[in-house]
Amino acid sequence: MRFWAMPEAVEVGKELSNESQSPTWQSSRRAFLKMTGAACVPGLLATSALAQAAPDFWSMPRQIWLQRKTARGVEEFRGVYFADGKLLLEPYLQICRILRDVREDVAVQMSPVLLDILCGVQGIARVHGVEAPLETTSGHRTARHNSRLEGAARASLHIEGRAWDGRMPGMSPAIMSEAAKYLRGGGVGLYVDRRFVHVDDGRLRSWSGR
Ligand SMILES: [Zn+2]
Repeated sequence: MRFWAMPEAVEVGKELSNESQSPTWQSSRRAFLKMTGAACVPGLLATSALAQAAPDFWSMPRQIWLQRKTARGVEEFRGVYFADGKLLLEPYLQICRILRDVREDVAVQMSPVLLDILCGVQGIARVHGVEAPLETTSGHRTARHNSRLEGAARASLHIEGRAWDGRMPGMSPAIMSEAAKYLRGGGVGLYVDRRFVHVDDGRLRSWSGR
């Protein structure tokens, strides 16, 4: 089940050039601005706390509060990335940059569905009184970086810009993973010892690891 159809202008996993005026990006930018993406699934959250507290959650502007600690300090995005049935380009690009492979300094177009899953998890947290950023430990990973990581799946969705790892202060990873599983947006991994949750927009499945 998807929160909305993937807008065709978004090429998930495609590298973002540093030069945003490049011809390729210009043309996708035009396509991007034309697209409408909303295809909410009204029944999705029908029985959840989120649905009770905010029945029109998916028709409201979608916001996300993301943080990333890097050697240069804390990078942050806090705001709306989707409104009036459209993904907002500038916020989307900022989010993609925050979710880049920090080690390799490569940003790609991240899955908008992944962003919706994170938005939903944060919405559920908020309903439960937790107002906190999503602390990102991993977003996009290049194939090269991924291949060097111990324990990382060879065909990891991180490579395709479709997975996120992290945690939220004030919410245990176990509860966070329950919230993510509830949303049924894709895979959810709970890593108890290392205190983080993996979410992706792939096949519905869940697992736990160390
Ligand atoms: Zn992961």
